[in-house]
Amino acid sequence: MRIDLHTHSAASDGTDAPADVVAEAARAGLDVVALTDHDTTLGWDEAAVSAGHHGIALVRGVEISCRAGGTSVHLLGYLHDPADQELVAELDRTRRSRVGRARAIVERLALDYDLTWDDVQAQTVTGTTVGRPHIADALVAKGIVADRSAAFVSLLAVSSPYYVHHHAPDVVRAVELVRAAGGVPVLAHPGAIERGQVISDQVIRRMVDAGLAGLEVHHRDHDAAQRERLAAVAAASGLLVTGSSDYHGAGKPNVLGENVTSVEAFEAIESQGRLAVLRP
Ligand code: AMP
Ligand code: FE
Ligand code: FE
Ligand code: ZN
Repeated sequence: MRIDLHTHSAASDGTDAPADVVAEAARAGLDVVALTDHDTTLGWDEAAVSAGHHGIALVRGVEISCRAGGTSVHLLGYLHDPADQELVAELDRTRRSRVGRARAIVERLALDYDLTWDDVQAQTVTGTTVGRPHIADALVAKGIVADRSAAFVSLLAVSSPYYVHHHAPDVVRAVELVRAAGGVPVLAHPGAIERGQVISDQVIRRMVDAGLAGLEVHHRDHDAAQRERLAAVAAASGLLVTGSSDYHGAGKPNVLGENVTSVEAFEAIESQGRLAVLRP
């Protein structure tokens, strides 16, 4: 069994429609794929229909933008009730804040570059969780940068004068919200030094106390030493170990199935989730 528990569609910052993420996952020979768009479950229904067509099992999930102090961290939630009021309210708040934040970044960029909010909207479909990748795509379309990666190391970097933050819940509260909604919380890429700081073991302990189920140990942002350290943390805390691609279509080099999750960890996640895994 090949199991990939972290992918993005055009419902957030992936470039494939939700149906196409699932179709590509089947084509890549995966048996199980999770759709985990940033702060939204918008792609779930389309992905479910596609999973039926393509004969692949689907885990419905989400990747919640969170913070630990001033550090940005991502929490994966699997198989939760998508109508849970408190979680829905928190995700709505983040998505609304992301729109205001993206507009603010564009206003700053527009002082120095030929870029408008319409240019960014042209890079999204209705309901998308708007993020820096969409601003990057607009910058590419305008010929201002070569690709998303070039935008992220320059104009859209956290250290850039054009950067603006958005609202995000505290990561310990997000663990509680996911559990209360019947979901299974797994800390995404804990070793990724995206914001110049890695989440501390102390915060991970507080997340464990709040109901954290696992750590995404196998991810391209972790080198061998980080994987070893994170696997030891997981073992010491009784956490599941997952692995995944964090596929974003053409938006990132990540290839479906480049990291995978064990059958044992997948079955444990399924047994803890309120929703069923959709099987063909
Ligand atoms: P945001 O959540 O709006 O601050 O944007 C962060 C998102 O940008 C992450 O979810 C990544 O998927 C994406 N991202 C970060 N770095 C890069 C990069 N170098 N190339 C493409 N996408 C990136
Ligand atoms: Fe992303
Ligand atoms: Fe992430
Ligand atoms: Zn992701």
